[in-house]
Amino acid sequence: MIIAPKIRGFICTTAHPEGCAQHVAEQIAVVKSRGPIANGPKKVLVIGSSTGYGLSSRIAAAFGCGADTMGVFFEKPAEEGRCGTAGWYNSAAFEKEAAAAGLFARSFNGDAFSDAMKAEVCAAIKADFGQVDCIIYSLASPRRTDPKTGEVYKSVLKSIGESYTNKNLNTGNGVVDEVTIQPAEGDDIKNTVAVMGGEDWEMWIDALLAENLIAPGTQTVAYSYIGPEITWPIYKNGTIGAAKEDCERVQRGLDAKLSDLGGKAWVSVNKALVTQASSAIPVVPLYISLLYKVMKAEGTHEDTIEQMDRLLRDRLYNGNPQPDEAGRIRVDDWEMTPAVQALVAERWNNVCSENLNELADFEGYQASFLRLFGFGLAGVDYAAETDPNVAVPSLS
Ligand code: NAD
Repeated sequence: MIIAPKIRGFICTTAHPEGCAQHVAEQIAVVKSRGPIANGPKKVLVIGSSTGYGLSSRIAAAFGCGADTMGVFFEKPAEEGRCGTAGWYNSAAFEKEAAAAGLFARSFNGDAFSDAMKAEVCAAIKADFGQVDCIIYSLASPRRTDPKTGEVYKSVLKSIGESYTNKNLNTGNGVVDEVTIQPAEGDDIKNTVAVMGGEDWEMWIDALLAENLIAPGTQTVAYSYIGPEITWPIYKNGTIGAAKEDCERVQRGLDAKLSDLGGKAWVSVNKALVTQASSAIPVVPLYISLLYKVMKAEGTHEDTIEQMDRLLRDRLYNGNPQPDEAGRIRVDDWEMTPAVQALVAERWNNVCSENLNELADFEGYQASFLRLFGFGLAGVDYAAETDPNVAVPSLS
């Protein structure tokens, strides 16, 4: 099968197995080039480990800290003429690289929100690890089935209070126009908090604690975003921001629960980056395109792997997490420097379809987006036949 990108709106419905493997290999190379992470964890559970920040967290833990990892995700293998998802191919490649490096890796494909998945993973930890010493929570999902009631919650990306109009980039054709986002109504806020808030993170920690599967000194971290004021109505002050606030509430509770074990719970605020989840948020792709241009020019641009390497190496495991006034870890620090933000804000005011390529790194945005699905990687022959049937070793 020859696999080419098929883009529908903000998703790509195809993924290239060798390209995804190359993307994983490049991420591993970044971590290895920085040398081992001293004092890192050795038995790591990553929930949401197949793409974006979670995949990079798993790679940094394994190839930086030398950790054995378990990863949970929701992906699809290839079937009858259809290729698998990028997260499936990433996980297959990760496991092969981990095995070659002598690292244990086991993956779980299914609904992380369910009690059944928690029970399966707890049993595996008991059998293979005894205990975990780091738990990374990196789920991004549009819906969640409540494991107790069976109710299905759908998250929405809406403002709260008033409707919100701002510039927007159509990533399909490079047109800068305007988008108006309607405010949340009914149960929108409650439902978004139920999906993207902290409840499920807490359920995971409670399930692990109940079976004594958390080692002394364990750290757990969930990811958040704050960003600049231009995005606040849709992000920080919108429905997704309410969910992130809920993560911080849960973090404080988990921190107290883990303190008996000498452990810590954190929320890490990460940089805005192109991932499958962020490309679905209105306004954000234009902001990211402007941000990439500024940060690449100043030499401070990072992708998910550099971010997660820095989180483990320079915050969580170097004894100097540098929390902000609210107790959050900030690896969005370089994004949020006043100089970067002033330039992005100025260009935000001036950007239009005609000067997009001059003021913003739309090319870089598109290239990053395609790389998420294994396209555009050096050394991959995209004209060649490729077998879409790739096994994730621990799942076959
Ligand atoms: P992503 O879409 O790349 O990854 C989501 C992961 O969740 C995948 O591994 C997917 O398989 C898994 N997943 C989704 N639903 C699942 C389910 N029901 N069961 C099991 N696994 C499931 O997203 P991302 O951008 O890396 O987001 C991860 C976290 O980082 C989110 O909390 C997000 O808000 C946060 N974050 C993202 C950005 C950004 O710019 N992308 C910035 C800061 C923080």
